[in-house]
Amino acid sequence: MELLNTPELEAFRQEVRAFLAANLTDEIRRNVRENMYPDREMHSNWHALLLKKGWAAPGWPKKYGGCEWPLEKHYIFEREFALADAPRPIIFNFDMVGPMFIEFGTEEQRKRFLPRALTGEDRWCQGFSEPGAGSDLASLQCRAKREGDHYVLNGTKIWTSLGLECDMMFGLFRTDGSGKKQEGITVLVMSTTLPGFTRQPIRLIDGSVEVCQCFFDDVKVPVENLVGEEGKGWGIAKHLLGLERLGTAEVARTRAMIARLKQAAREETGGGAPLIEDPFFAGKIAELETELDALDITEFRFLFDPEKKGILGPEASILKLCGTVAQMRAAELIMEAAGHYAIPLDDPGHRGNFGPIGPEFAAAAAGMYFNLRKIAIYGGSNEIQRNIVSKAVLGL
Ligand SMILES: Cc1cc2nc3c(=O)[nH]c(=O)nc-3n(C[C@H](O)[C@H](O)[C@H](O)COP(=O)(O)OP(=O)(O)OC[C@H]3O[C@@H](n4cnc5c(N)ncnc54)[C@H](O)[C@@H]3O)c2cc1C
Repeated sequence: MELLNTPELEAFRQEVRAFLAANLTDEIRRNVRENMYPDREMHSNWHALLLKKGWAAPGWPKKYGGCEWPLEKHYIFEREFALADAPRPIIFNFDMVGPMFIEFGTEEQRKRFLPRALTGEDRWCQGFSEPGAGSDLASLQCRAKREGDHYVLNGTKIWTSLGLECDMMFGLFRTDGSGKKQEGITVLVMSTTLPGFTRQPIRLIDGSVEVCQCFFDDVKVPVENLVGEEGKGWGIAKHLLGLERLGTAEVARTRAMIARLKQAAREETGGGAPLIEDPFFAGKIAELETELDALDITEFRFLFDPEKKGILGPEASILKLCGTVAQMRAAELIMEAAGHYAIPLDDPGHRGNFGPIGPEFAAAAAGMYFNLRKIAIYGGSNEIQRNIVSKAVLGL
């Protein structure tokens, strides 16, 4: 679907493709396919290339080192990167921390935090969820008590993505529990090296360790690390969670998965013929591609609606819901194509003396299938998205 095809946008598309052809090696591609969060060193090297090209922060204003592209260019850029299996940006730095400081921070905070977020010297994580506060986030209990020129933090955050390796956290903390639960919530940012801050890894169903639980035991955070006003963090959180949902549709990444699936189905045989010639399997791929075509057009329609100017409301829930269902379905079909070769948990990073088992694509099939169950949970679970759609779109 090449709907954005003015001469200027087409020239930009070709420039992006040329950059990817020159820099995206097979090794990086493989790393991206096999890991949701690729190897840190590889990712840092990739980020350095983007910085040099001036493409590290497509959505940020030029003043802070961003590209300040119009939505059309940003869309083309993201789409081409995803279709090529290029690494994702350092997600929290660029999609959340940047927009948060630009929209709600002070100029002093922007000067202090944005340059290091841009270069990737600081990697950020998001401390929102707690053991009793996920879907019902406003019930959060991790406390921040003002004492002189510091807040003193006590409690815990859980499911912190990249929490183990990050340098900085932005989080929601309860500064007042006397009013409605959405009131008295405050956004604070902090270094993860502060005394009293500890973390414990959580192993996911595929064996990976992408998330952790963080503990705060009298952690002292200076008041200048308060973002916005004390007690007004709920509005900031809602704004940031809206941004997170948009990125989760991942239409182009799923298209790249389907392209790999088709390639595998041409090479794999079932009953003596290539799998792609099995009408039942081919039908399943066609069904998913049709869904994805519809989703692609729906996303395009939402994003480029002249009245909405790229700002999505409940439409973001439709994209998140349908996008994650399609992506999980693609992972399921890749498992099906791998067949019994997907049974061994063949962790490509730890093969020891064993060689790969079965065709190359099968090595990561099971891990990816199990890992991707998470996309129906984070960023607002799919049940919660259905609630939003039923109320705000269908008026039920
Ligand atoms: C891999 C992973 C990474 C994550 N990364 C981060 C991160 O970086 N930072 C962060 O802050 N959080 C993160 N999260 C947390 C995530 O946002 C929460 O897990 C999510 O919001 C669900 O909350 P919960 O786990 O407390 O489940 P609960 O809210 O307890 O939900 C349990 C089940 O009940 C359903 N449910 C709940 N309420 C309703 C309702 N009203 N109607 C219908 N069904 C309902 C849910 O859909 C779910 O199926 C991550 C989670 C995962 C799994």
